[in-house]
Amino acid sequence: MLSENTISIIKTITPLVAANAETITRRFYQIMFEGDPQVKTFFNMAHQESGQQPKALAEAVCAYFANIENLGVLGPTVELIAQKHCSLNIQPEHYPIVGKYLLIAIKDVMGDAATDEIINAVAEAYEFLANVCINRETEIYQQHRAMTGGWLGYRKFIVWRKEEESQEITSFYLQPKDSQPLPNFKPGQYITIQVDDPNLSSTPRNYSLSDSPNQDYFRISVKKELGKTPNAPNGMISSYLHDEVQVGGTLSVGAPCGEFTLDPAKLNDQPVVFLAGGVGITPLLSMAKTLVDQAVLAPIYFIHASRNSAVHAFDNEVCKMISDKDFVNTLFVYDDPLAADLEDGKCDSVGYVTADVLRDKTPYQSANFYVCGPTEFMHQMLTILDELDVEPARIHYEFFGPKQDFKTLASA
Ligand code: FAD
Repeated sequence: MLSENTISIIKTITPLVAANAETITRRFYQIMFEGDPQVKTFFNMAHQESGQQPKALAEAVCAYFANIENLGVLGPTVELIAQKHCSLNIQPEHYPIVGKYLLIAIKDVMGDAATDEIINAVAEAYEFLANVCINRETEIYQQHRAMTGGWLGYRKFIVWRKEEESQEITSFYLQPKDSQPLPNFKPGQYITIQVDDPNLSSTPRNYSLSDSPNQDYFRISVKKELGKTPNAPNGMISSYLHDEVQVGGTLSVGAPCGEFTLDPAKLNDQPVVFLAGGVGITPLLSMAKTLVDQAVLAPIYFIHASRNSAVHAFDNEVCKMISDKDFVNTLFVYDDPLAADLEDGKCDSVGYVTADVLRDKTPYQSANFYVCGPTEFMHQMLTILDELDVEPARIHYEFFGPKQDFKTLASA
């Protein structure tokens, strides 16, 4: 347990740390990457460029300090962090590196205000949280080792099928090179991909499993990320997968991880609404297919927002999933339809997914919502769900990047 003195000091410094949190975390990453560059392999440098990673860490530090007397509320965040760490194969010996640079960054930014007493208290609080994470990560690694078909670290997989799903998204069907069984995964989980190119192999990325479990392959579906400004490079790993990885190619794969999952047994026939934006469909498709495969009786509402039919992935697969199933409802929403889309009736609704759409088309007062998509889409959906008074306990969501705070996002 944390000492009373440490709790009291953390409570006192929380407002000051909160006011400087992003300056501290930006400094932290800068000095850590300079001092121990080998840890860069655990971080996506594009998220450093965009500032998302320092922001996410600042929010996590503030949440920890603000809840120092009520750590139970941090349970879901600890689980998210532990799952992410296990996906990247982070080990206990990495924690002291982070702790060291965090304390230096706090000293650098807070100057004389960071007395020895304060630094000692922050060190104790950091070590306490690190041990909570390490214990949970040890459990997850043990589960991976014990599971039929499970593994630790990276395992070689062969691409046995590559399928274009839209102009932007391509699926890769992966089978283990050792021909041994695959572990079962929970729908919604992701795997980690490391490409076998010496220039890129230290840069792993997470990809959600887009098909239902119990197949003899893992399927990931990857959007090719293009540079958003003329000088910005295209996404490193997604471009490599699209352009360089062909059928017969090899990828190194980390075991399924992630806490954004849906357990069909726990639904109690309550309705489920899936809100997918673009490539955010991947974990939600796996969840929906699992519910349909298991003939779960919960009414399903599958809403997918895309720009138009050219970039709309999995429309056929979703239509096939729902055929003859009156308990599954779908809605395809295009905000920039092609002329042919309007003529052919390719979408059910033009515009964005609005509060009125959810009011009219979903049982929002009782449903559980599963949301995944680009940041702007997530922002809109979480704001709308807040407006509709959907309690946070019924809202489940995943970011394809560093986790962002729901309240910050909803009020942005
Ligand atoms: P990066 O190289 O990481 O670049 C990302 C963006 O940053 C690009 O737009 C790029 O132009 C920009 N950028 C990079 N460097 C610079 C710079 N110097 N200046 C300006 N801009 C820059 N993705 C999927 O497609 N499908 C999935 O199912 C999926 N599931 C995911 C699940 C989880 C849990 C997570 C965390 C992520 C998931 N992702 C998924 C996202 C995926 O992990 C990658 O982040 C994504 O493919 C982009 O990686 P990249 O290497 O191609 O792009």
